Amino acid sequence: MHDSIPRVVIVGGGFGGLAAAKALKRAPVNVVLIDRTNHHLFQPLLYQVATSVLSPGQIGSPIRGIIGRNPNTTVILGGVTGVDKDKRCVFVSSADRENVPVEYDFLILATGVTHSYFGHNEFAQFAPGLKSLADAVAIRNRILQAFEQAEAEEDPARHRDLLTFVLVGAGPTGVEMAGALAVLVRSTLKSEFRRVRPESTRIVLLDMAPRVLGTFANQLSEAAKKRLESLGVEVRLGHSVDQIDGDGVVAGGERISSKTVIWTAGVSPSPAGKWLSVGTDRAGRVRIESDLTVPGHPEIYVVGDTASLDQDGKPLPGVAQVAIQQGRYAGRAIYRRVAGFSTPEAFRYFDKGNMAVVGKGFAVLQSGAVHMSGFLAWLAWAGVHLQFLAQSSLRVSVFVQWVWTYLTGQRGSRLIVNHHGAEPMTQDPKQAHLELAKTSK
Ligand SMILES: Cc1cc2nc3c(=O)[nH]c(=O)nc-3n(C[C@H](O)[C@H](O)[C@H](O)COP(=O)(O)OP(=O)(O)OC[C@H]3O[C@@H](n4cnc5c(N)ncnc54)[C@H](O)[C@@H]3O)c2cc1C
Repeated sequence: MHDSIPRVVIVGGGFGGLAAAKALKRAPVNVVLIDRTNHHLFQPLLYQVATSVLSPGQIGSPIRGIIGRNPNTTVILGGVTGVDKDKRCVFVSSADRENVPVEYDFLILATGVTHSYFGHNEFAQFAPGLKSLADAVAIRNRILQAFEQAEAEEDPARHRDLLTFVLVGAGPTGVEMAGALAVLVRSTLKSEFRRVRPESTRIVLLDMAPRVLGTFANQLSEAAKKRLESLGVEVRLGHSVDQIDGDGVVAGGERISSKTVIWTAGVSPSPAGKWLSVGTDRAGRVRIESDLTVPGHPEIYVVGDTASLDQDGKPLPGVAQVAIQQGRYAGRAIYRRVAGFSTPEAFRYFDKGNMAVVGKGFAVLQSGAVHMSGFLAWLAWAGVHLQFLAQSSLRVSVFVQWVWTYLTGQRGSRLIVNHHGAEPMTQDPKQAHLELAKTSK
């Protein structure tokens, strides 16, 4: 049992969960924020870690460092495995404990999404997705490793496969990643290799949709596509991917040989709907009421990517602004209820607009009637993204890095780091054995 002060359990320290915790900072409640990682991640800049512009520490901040000073908030590192709605508790597993019940009076679920391979989970081993810092570092390793392998390879026939990169999914992540990769190979790496020409790298962006950035206006999609093509990216639309294996991709009946395939397509929600046994949409996101609570359970809020809510007849998109505004609303609503004030009006999303970067100094921006592409849109993109980084130190460090990269083409972090297991250049096992024998003498 917990004490008489109401307890709010927030699951997830992403955009939604953090916004809720901040809104509850002065509320007469005890807040317990549970996340399976110790950091809040600024996912919109993950592609910059994957393409060596930024280092992981520049887009992730310890959750404890952001809200650990809120006097009413306890941060727990652990993964939630289920919810008992009747007993009002969540079950948490951590390094040395399993399914420990943590009671709540109010629950906010903000557990986001994971990759979806649209029923082809066998693609996962050949085409990693981009969702966590570990994913971004793994993709960075693969990209840099491909160039190292090509440089060491004496047979020029193999260079082509090693230096062909295929991205599956031409939404914002695929477009931003393809543009950044093109800039990496055609500027930063250009003069550093002798046996291969990085600027001859082939980058293919695939999607079954008829246009890139499908959620943007037609003219902005077209501007982004043209820009990608001017950077040398091959954009192939209208073909579904039939197969992905160790030798590349088959799309629209044609094989594209490649040693590096990256999945930038679908996502599927966290299992929050299953934990709660409540209605979900077709994708599995929890259907919520207009006050963001679960039908029949006014004490349970679900916010952000893992929630499904229609506004003006259309589902709200899975973007950071929706999660932030919903998290803030849920936090404030609980504050008001506990303090005895009237409950707020129904949630309404205020759409500030969408942006996507395409290579150096170019972005597309859509906000209401304003549709822009080019350098000014890129400046707006840079300003907005700096503003939303979680800590001031990150804003300064990312700003300095961007200016430096813009002026010199040099990148923040071009290291191949294998955190687990062998060093990247796999050794001859016999040689490794000899070296071990020498060192143990
Ligand atoms: C590569 C990429 C690029 C993107 N670019 C943009 C962009 O440019 N603009 C934009 O608006 N949006 C962008 N998005 C989408 C945006 O990041 C999401 O909409 C937003 O993060 C959703 O916030 P959230 O709080 O719902 O989930 P998240 O921010 O994903 O947070 C979920 C949190 O829950 C935790 N968690 C999950 N399951 C459990 C569990 N069982 N137990 C404990 N903790 C758990 C996770 O560790 C995570 O910290 C991008 C997303 C990605 C992946």
